[in-house]
Amino acid sequence: LQAEGDRSPADIVLTVDIARLQQIVDAGVTQPVQSDVLEANIPETLRDPGDQWFGLTTRARIVYASKDRVQPGEVTTYEDLASDKWKGRLCTRSGLHDYNVALLGAVIAHHDAAYATQWAEGLKANLARKPDGGDRDQVKAIAAGECDIALGNTYYMGQMLADPEQVPWAESVNIVFPVFEGGGTHVNVSGIAMTKAAPNRAAALTFMEWLSSDAAQKIYAETNHEFPVKPGVERSALVASWGSFTPDDLPLSTIASERAAALKIMETVDFDG
Ligand code: FE
Repeated sequence: LQAEGDRSPADIVLTVDIARLQQIVDAGVTQPVQSDVLEANIPETLRDPGDQWFGLTTRARIVYASKDRVQPGEVTTYEDLASDKWKGRLCTRSGLHDYNVALLGAVIAHHDAAYATQWAEGLKANLARKPDGGDRDQVKAIAAGECDIALGNTYYMGQMLADPEQVPWAESVNIVFPVFEGGGTHVNVSGIAMTKAAPNRAAALTFMEWLSSDAAQKIYAETNHEFPVKPGVERSALVASWGSFTPDDLPLSTIASERAAALKIMETVDFDG
């Protein structure tokens, strides 16, 4: 971690989303880290098979559903979000944003590119308005009655509840955990990698291993309203109040490998247009 103005090489990079982790790996600025501790603490699907990046917490990409206009049980699968019953009722940020590209990558991995293209077209056809703003802006639109459901990451509920202006947005929706047909709920990570230039390799490794420990996992996940990756570490009371779910078991490396195909589909269907 580096203070502003410090010109010495950083030891580690902390960032969110598999796309950004993979980007720094592809840029050649990271190094592999072999650690029994990291391997034991972090599930295999949430770390790089080549040991270049490690997930530290997970966030689910879920549906924020209007308390007034969406009945319990109405939101089911990600596949169903493309069905006619949601016509004019869906809001989401840009289809080209990393979060939605990763979700579409998961759709490709669960089905195929042809299916994913139809799905993206179906989703676009269901939009209440053109994609605009971030995930919280979609919840704001639900509160304003512009749409009934929105795609969003779980931790934004924690962020909205911490901001008096946004509390009414948060209170207008329920969190619903959709699943893939035959799978679970789509998750992504915030994660860490060691830089190739790391001047303090031993200290950096110690810090990485500490972040995967019970104590640090609890603090880190509580701070960012995310889910600890280490099995057995309790989620915060707020995060636990959103309910439990089955995370999809697709390796994040698979989602990363579908990124180019997913981006191409978003462009082909002109999702934001
Ligand atoms: Fe975010």
